[in-house]
Amino acid sequence: MAVNYKKCPKCGSKNSVKIVYGMPSFKLFQEAEAGKVKLGGCCIIEGGPEYHCKDCNNEWNREQVLDIAYGQIRGLKASVGGYFGGYYHVTNY
Ligand SMILES: [Zn+2]
Repeated sequence: MAVNYKKCPKCGSKNSVKIVYGMPSFKLFQEAEAGKVKLGGCCIIEGGPEYHCKDCNNEWNREQVLDIAYGQIRGLKASVGGYFGGYYHVTNY
Protein backbone atom coordinates (compact mmCIF):
# COMPACT_ATOMS: atom_id res chain seq x y z
CA MET A 1 0.00 0.00 0.00
CA ALA A 2 1.23 3.45 -0.88
CA VAL A 3 1.77 5.78 2.03
CA ASN A 4 2.50 9.41 1.31
CA TYR A 5 4.90 10.35 4.07
CA LYS A 6 5.04 13.95 2.89
CA LYS A 7 1.33 14.53 3.44
CA CYS A 8 0.73 16.40 6.68
CA PRO A 9 -1.25 14.13 9.07
CA LYS A 10 -2.67 17.21 10.79
CA CYS A 11 -4.03 19.39 7.96
CA GLY A 12 -3.63 17.07 4.93
CA SER A 13 -1.37 19.53 3.11
CA LYS A 14 1.33 18.26 0.77
CA ASN A 15 3.19 21.54 1.15
CA SER A 16 5.81 19.91 3.34
CA VAL A 17 9.59 19.62 3.36
CA LYS A 18 11.91 16.89 4.56
CA ILE A 19 13.90 17.70 7.67
CA VAL A 20 17.57 16.91 7.10
CA TYR A 21 19.81 16.28 10.07
CA GLY A 22 23.55 16.51 10.26
CA MET A 23 26.02 19.11 9.13
CA PRO A 24 24.56 20.63 5.94
CA SER A 25 26.67 20.74 2.81
CA PHE A 26 26.75 23.97 0.79
CA LYS A 27 24.21 22.49 -1.66
CA LEU A 28 21.91 21.43 1.16
CA PHE A 29 22.22 24.86 2.73
CA GLN A 30 21.12 26.44 -0.57
CA GLU A 31 18.15 24.05 -0.76
CA ALA A 32 17.18 25.03 2.77
CA GLU A 33 17.40 28.69 1.80
CA ALA A 34 15.12 27.96 -1.16
CA GLY A 35 12.63 26.26 1.17
CA LYS A 36 13.09 22.80 -0.35
CA VAL A 37 14.33 21.17 2.84
CA LYS A 38 14.43 22.09 6.51
CA LEU A 39 17.61 21.76 8.50
CA GLY A 40 17.07 19.82 11.70
CA GLY A 41 20.42 20.62 13.26
CA CYS A 42 23.60 18.62 13.55
CA CYS A 43 22.28 16.14 16.11
CA ILE A 44 20.16 13.23 14.89
CA ILE A 45 17.27 12.70 17.30
CA GLU A 46 15.99 9.14 17.65
CA GLY A 47 12.32 9.14 16.68
CA GLY A 48 12.46 12.85 15.91
CA PRO A 49 10.38 14.53 13.22
CA GLU A 50 11.35 13.91 9.59
CA TYR A 51 8.91 16.22 7.82
CA HIS A 52 7.79 19.79 8.38
CA CYS A 53 4.46 21.22 7.16
CA LYS A 54 4.80 24.72 5.74
CA ASP A 55 1.07 25.35 6.14
CA CYS A 56 0.50 24.56 9.81
CA ASN A 57 4.11 24.13 11.09
CA ASN A 58 3.33 20.56 12.16
CA GLU A 59 6.29 18.16 12.29
CA TRP A 60 6.10 14.40 12.12
CA ASN A 61 8.02 11.24 11.23
CA ARG A 62 7.25 8.19 9.11
CA GLU A 63 6.32 6.08 12.11
CA GLN A 64 3.46 8.45 12.95
CA VAL A 65 2.21 8.37 9.33
CA LEU A 66 2.17 4.55 9.42
CA ASP A 67 0.35 4.56 12.76
CA ILE A 68 -2.38 6.74 11.28
CA ALA A 69 -2.53 4.74 8.02
CA TYR A 70 -2.84 1.38 9.82
CA GLY A 71 -5.40 2.86 12.17
CA GLN A 72 -7.55 3.72 9.16
CA ILE A 73 -7.22 0.15 7.77
CA ARG A 74 -8.26 -1.31 11.13
CA GLY A 75 -11.32 0.92 11.12
CA LEU A 76 -12.23 -0.26 7.61
CA LYS A 77 -11.88 -3.97 8.50
CA ALA A 78 -14.01 -3.50 11.60
CA SER A 79 -16.88 -2.03 9.60
CA VAL A 80 -16.66 -4.83 6.97
CA GLY A 81 -16.67 -7.49 9.73
CA GLY A 82 -19.67 -5.83 11.30
CA TYR A 83 -21.52 -5.98 8.00
CA PHE A 84 -20.92 -9.71 7.52
CA GLY A 85 -21.71 -10.40 11.15
CA GLY A 86 -25.09 -8.78 10.62
CA TYR A 87 -25.62 -10.79 7.45
CA TYR A 88 -25.08 -14.15 9.17
CA HIS A 89 -27.26 -13.06 12.02
CA VAL A 90 -30.12 -12.45 9.59
CA THR A 91 -29.71 -15.81 7.72
CA ASN A 92 -29.77 -17.77 10.99
CA TYR A 93 -33.36 -16.76 11.55
ZN1 LIG B 1 -0.07 20.76 8.09
